[in-house]
Amino acid sequence: MASGSSSSFYGSRSRSIPSSPPPVKCFHDEIAPLRIVKFHGSTQGKRFYGCPYWPRMCGHFKWADEVNEVKELQFMLFEKDTAISELQYEKECLEESMKKLKEKNLKLEDDVNELALENAVRFESMECVKADKKLVFAMLLSWIFFCCCVVDK
Ligand SMILES: [Zn+2]
Repeated sequence: MASGSSSSFYGSRSRSIPSSPPPVKCFHDEIAPLRIVKFHGSTQGKRFYGCPYWPRMCGHFKWADEVNEVKELQFMLFEKDTAISELQYEKECLEESMKKLKEKNLKLEDDVNELALENAVRFESMECVKADKKLVFAMLLSWIFFCCCVVDK
């Protein structure tokens, strides 16, 4: 079940996308409340995000319409970021498995080298045995030859 475990490894991750984009913050780094223009004029009734420390405001002011556009763009950016981070995560996973494969490959190469060395040693010792046998055989032959010479005389 090697394939099953690997697929769960990729699939077990849960995507964390917030249901709503981050709230609007003023320059005090406080969440700016949504207010409605109360004074009479062309902008009366229009919604905006102002500083919560009104009237000691930090100068933060944003129309709600603009903010919605910005929020939409931010959310789109966020989604793209998520896609990018997902791809990066997959890349990291691939790199990790590549690293592991490389390590495995190195280990296998080491094993092969070790085996080759072992074989070479074995082969050498076999050659030694062969040489020994040849030497013994040659000595035996010369001994027989010597004996034959002695018997002839
Ligand atoms: Zn403020």
